[in-house]
Amino acid sequence: MARYIFVTGGVVSSLGKGLSSASLAYLLQSRGFKVRIRKLDPYLNVDPGTMSPFQHGEVYVTDDGAETDLDLGHYERFSGVSAKKSDNITTGKIYNDVLKKERKGEYLGKTVQVIPHITDRIKQFIKHDSSKEDFVICEIGGIVGDIESLPFVEAIRQFANDVGKKNALFIHLTLVPYLKASDEIKTKPTQHSVKELRSIGVQPDIIICRSERPIPLEHRKKISLFCNVDIKNVIETVDVKTIYEAPISFFREKLDVQVLNYFKLKTKKPANLNPWKKITKIILQNKRQVNIAIIGKYVELQDAYKSLDEALTHGGIDNKIKVNLVRIDSEKLKISEIKKKLKNISGILIPGGFGKRGTDGKIEAIKYARMNKIPFLGICYGMQMAIIEFARNQLNLKNATSSEFDKKGLPIIGLLNEWSKDGKTIKGTDKDLGGTMRLGSYDAKLQNNTKIRKIYKSKLIKERHRHRYEVNIAYREKFEKGGMIFSGLSPDNQLPEIIELKNHPWFIGVQFHPEFKSRPLSPHPLFSSFIKAAKIINE
Ligand code: GLN
Repeated sequence: MARYIFVTGGVVSSLGKGLSSASLAYLLQSRGFKVRIRKLDPYLNVDPGTMSPFQHGEVYVTDDGAETDLDLGHYERFSGVSAKKSDNITTGKIYNDVLKKERKGEYLGKTVQVIPHITDRIKQFIKHDSSKEDFVICEIGGIVGDIESLPFVEAIRQFANDVGKKNALFIHLTLVPYLKASDEIKTKPTQHSVKELRSIGVQPDIIICRSERPIPLEHRKKISLFCNVDIKNVIETVDVKTIYEAPISFFREKLDVQVLNYFKLKTKKPANLNPWKKITKIILQNKRQVNIAIIGKYVELQDAYKSLDEALTHGGIDNKIKVNLVRIDSEKLKISEIKKKLKNISGILIPGGFGKRGTDGKIEAIKYARMNKIPFLGICYGMQMAIIEFARNQLNLKNATSSEFDKKGLPIIGLLNEWSKDGKTIKGTDKDLGGTMRLGSYDAKLQNNTKIRKIYKSKLIKERHRHRYEVNIAYREKFEKGGMIFSGLSPDNQLPEIIELKNHPWFIGVQFHPEFKSRPLSPHPLFSSFIKAAKIINE
């Protein structure tokens, strides 16, 4: 039977629950255990698919086509295990399911209530499809004390009772602030947060204390005493220089050992930290640098392009070079400033996006990359914009556009609402915005004698999609004659998946999101190759 580890947060959000859960997953896995990580989000959206990246950060997409919280990206990158649709749930989805059942009369006339009906649905989510795992780590979004997280905490309290306390462990992550003025470390917020948690029936077994500086023993003792937690289970996590140090830091703090002790389990093999030590060293000791511009609409919020930032860093690790990300707001990018703004840039990346705002800046930047032979990678919307730029400026189709933002022009990018996958037809729609795009993993065939084929070293690839519009295949011949090759196609030859320029050192656009599959311990070939090209022109 699986053991369940619940991770809650206290005091403030953004303390790194996701990273802590992902690091713990890595450590347990490397000791020979099978681990699954799940996220429970307290907001009312059914999934984050319709949420703006400005607010919530990136929407992460799984192989099986779920639009999920970005923490699932951390989980995949650290644990190497592909997340599934069934690994993320929200309050909205839970209520949706319960209310659908209620309408069908499946509660047989009973009064439907938070306890037990909502909590039962949460417990069902935690447990389903987990019998083959050694551990299921469940992260509860938000912080303890929020009204919205109450049903989740209640559900995990009940759950521990259901499976027996020896099979369930509660980890609480809190902030231990340092006050400069008085040169003091404060444990009171942690005490209060644990008090809050205990008042709703959950006694933490392990407390992870996030702190700017090491926490002295006397303070740990205080936390142990006031919070009723064994001193060995008061674990500190001091700010790391790179997130890839996190598994090393938790290993030093014996988080994994304490978890195994709790469950009275012996390690199957020693934990292997060497891969993380190796990449941390590369990241921290790199003297050489390369500047990559990300030109998009959501540059203000750090987390809006989380997987992309990570994938570029991975490309840097593979090339032993530090990647400086220069974020440029496409809405504010004036045509007259492009040359100046992109002066010290060795690679230009246009990420995924939606809607008209900022498209002019993107198209101009693409033109600049094309004409000046600067390595260019266009992802999803970025590829669509590269197609429009080429059509307008090289093929002289001046009114070429996408029907996403212009219904009157020549729709080289158009709405497609049927896709074939594994012999089946999948229908999309733009009536309902949630979950109706081409989502998840699709095959693409790579053409012979193309750059992309050399990069992937494979004829058939699988990549994750999240879009509603497609490049119109009818223009293929025109584009190829003009020098832009459709080097990757869907297996039925109907959908252009990859484009590249013939007479350019490195100009590639992909209709999918390769960034979701890049991992620090196995960088994605497309990002490695892009950074390599940028490194070459930088020399
Ligand atoms: N807006 C575009 C579409 O729906 C691209 C989406 C994206 O970049 N993920 O097709």
